[in-house]
Amino acid sequence: MQIAALKERAAGEARVSITPETVKKFIALGAEVTVEKGAGETASISDAAFEDAGATIATAAKAAEGAEIILSVQAPDVAALKGAAKGAWVAATFDPVGDKGRVEAYAKAGFEALSMEFMPRITRAQSMDVLSSQSNLSGYKAVISAANEYGRAFPMMMTAAGTVQAARCFVMGVGVAGLQAIATAKRLGAQVSATDVRSATKEQIQSLGAKPIFVENVAGIEGEGSGGYATEMSEEYQKAQAELVSSHIAKQDIVITTALIPGRAAPRLISDAQIATMKQGSVIFDLAVAQGGNVEGSEPDKIVVKHGVKIMGFSNTPSHLAADASALFARNLYNFLSAFWDAEQGKPVLDEEIGDAVRLTQGGKIVNERLLG
Ligand code: NAD
Repeated sequence: MQIAALKERAAGEARVSITPETVKKFIALGAEVTVEKGAGETASISDAAFEDAGATIATAAKAAEGAEIILSVQAPDVAALKGAAKGAWVAATFDPVGDKGRVEAYAKAGFEALSMEFMPRITRAQSMDVLSSQSNLSGYKAVISAANEYGRAFPMMMTAAGTVQAARCFVMGVGVAGLQAIATAKRLGAQVSATDVRSATKEQIQSLGAKPIFVENVAGIEGEGSGGYATEMSEEYQKAQAELVSSHIAKQDIVITTALIPGRAAPRLISDAQIATMKQGSVIFDLAVAQGGNVEGSEPDKIVVKHGVKIMGFSNTPSHLAADASALFARNLYNFLSAFWDAEQGKPVLDEEIGDAVRLTQGGKIVNERLLG
């Protein structure tokens, strides 16, 4: 069984899908591992470190040659898979809903595309879930980046020259990224509050020592669909939430938005009129900026100043923490493949529950229910 890890080709992608740690683990399972030359450079991993772990370094033209499993953070164009074994598996993120053309190209080329975004949210798949591992780091990075742009301090400071007030930080959307954003802002000494459409998050917010800001007594507040994902909210709820948020937001120094609904554009949480009520020098970090944005006027990889408020967000937040993000992404891929490793066959054999969820293409066809429906 030959496993190949490719250098990322997407603009702004600094992560890598394999690390020396996972190279060693794949070899211990009986696999041979090839890593494309320079693949780890932007994540602070040298070719020599991969070689020391037992991998073979190959040029771009040869990297996929003979590989039965190909690993990548973002799925490469099929042209980069020249020479791979017939029906080879490609385990990566595919943006399957947004980039149907790529999925069709994989089907046509006869590869088996395994979409890590479609990993089911079940307990046994937690260690394989790249969305969680990367969101966690994104929540941290959002707060650190906002703090860096904020012209004031986060903690309260009592100095001989007088007192500096603690920053007020509001987190909107309390999933994996939001929870980490709350924890990070608390560690920096801010006064933290948070909201979500899922009422189950109220307790989680409190357990981190932050203040929950919730619309009460409005129908449709549960807001939780299958797998813990948010569903779209009733109009009545959206109106009540907007009113509550408006009055709260005007008092905030830092706002972190993280709200996503899978397969749809990100919900709009903050309007230009609401930004106008905020204090000069406040910072909003929009973690959903690449999915259309939670904040009116936010643009990927830019700091937009509106009404004296800085609005920012990255098109690829985990890539800004490439070393840690790669380490976790690589472990997710290893945990996924090793969980199904069949020692006799010397390769992984996926079960129905996880296999059918993540497999997009097989035998020249698109086979995933979520794409066929
Ligand atoms: P996500 O990235 O899909 O969304 C981020 C958050 O935004 C969610 O909490 C969502 O409820 C919230 N949101 C959506 N619309 C909103 C709106 N209009 N206003 C305010 N908030 C809004 O979520 P996520 O980080 O992937 O996590 C969602 C849940 O799934 C969590 O409870 C998490 O623990 C769970 N989860 C479980 C597993 C597993 O068991 N393997 C894996 C990942 C996540």
